[in-house]
Amino acid sequence: MAPKVAPSRPLHPDTRLVHAGTIRSEFGETSEALFLTQGHVYASAEECEARFKGEIPGYLYARFSNPTVAMFEQRMAALEGAETARATATGMAAVTAALMGQLKAGDHVVAAQALFGSCRWVIEELLPRFGVASTLVDGADLDQWRRAVRRETKTFFLESPANPTLSIIDVAAVAEIAHAAGATLVVDNVFATAIWQSPLTLGADCVVYSATKHIDGQGRCLGGVILGSNAFIETHVHNLLRQTGPAMSPFNAWVMLKGLETLSLRVERQTRSAGAVADALAPHAKIDRLIYPGRADHPQADIIKKQMRGGSSLIAFDVAGGKAGAFRFLNALELVRISNNLGDAKSLVTHPATTTHQRFAPEVRANMGVGEGLVRLSVGLEHPDDLIADLERALAQA
Ligand SMILES: *Cc1c(COP(=O)(O)O)cnc(C)c1O
Repeated sequence: MAPKVAPSRPLHPDTRLVHAGTIRSEFGETSEALFLTQGHVYASAEECEARFKGEIPGYLYARFSNPTVAMFEQRMAALEGAETARATATGMAAVTAALMGQLKAGDHVVAAQALFGSCRWVIEELLPRFGVASTLVDGADLDQWRRAVRRETKTFFLESPANPTLSIIDVAAVAEIAHAAGATLVVDNVFATAIWQSPLTLGADCVVYSATKHIDGQGRCLGGVILGSNAFIETHVHNLLRQTGPAMSPFNAWVMLKGLETLSLRVERQTRSAGAVADALAPHAKIDRLIYPGRADHPQADIIKKQMRGGSSLIAFDVAGGKAGAFRFLNALELVRISNNLGDAKSLVTHPATTTHQRFAPEVRANMGVGEGLVRLSVGLEHPDDLIADLERALAQA
């Protein structure tokens, strides 16, 4: 087992996405092998004992680790510049483990209020059952983060850009507040992707992804990943994952590995197309307000410049006429499909108020910036001219 690529000079992320973490078997295969095995056999009882004691390296059981899963973890760590990565069955398993692994009864969490719906459920509904309190803040308001801190605060959680409003949080500033309070910062980096934003270099202690999104990027498998220092992962995440079992399947890890090979190509192309789509739609009479992190008119363009290397493959906009206008627009689309997913090769559009954010009261939604006419567009790999034509034709019917 020789998992590490040991280059003589630091490699660019594009190169790491193709090579990092490759473990070749005795057959020297070119492409990453799919090790569909639950367990492993040992040459002797002594070897088995030594492996279990950690005295010699090697795999034990697929709930703990698997060669294909390890390749995915090592490639993700190389991409992110993290010491260690752990793969999980889904993005939500990654978020839940990153939070639960740090917390016990009596602790307190501070989180941004604009979160992926299930992340908010974990913080608002699940953690309190185990005696963990939380405070939700307007992530853009640094004073609210400062004021929310208590003696029991253990961790901060945020996503930036946030789903679905694409609002931005100053990651370095929030990390500083967290650390001053003796707390950690966990960043859900799905919307930025590792291509455009590196939260660990901005001061975050842990980064989580739903690999279901851009990392697969072709709508096939669920997956998640948790990244951080060896100390963070060992202390908070390692045993929780091994003993509770939200492991990524080897098959999904293999799909994700092949997804990583084209991640930068896809995200760069999707971002370029999203920029073109955003510029075409922004002045449209049927659009009340368009938010795109790659445009100079994003309300937090100064922070974006500081912490992101590129925009996003996602655009948010308010269609005139509220829910009725948004529904007429969605139903008139021919190419862009209605789906709550994102980061896919296919362009997908969703109406958050009636789907991902449906369970919130209208005033809570309004507070999160999710209006009745808000539409979230995930730009895929189609030619941007075809997308713009479809979107403009549907807007004319909205
Ligand atoms: C999709 C998503 C998740 C959850 O990921 P799953 O793979 O669906 O469990 C978490 N956070 C964000 C920002 C997401 O977009």
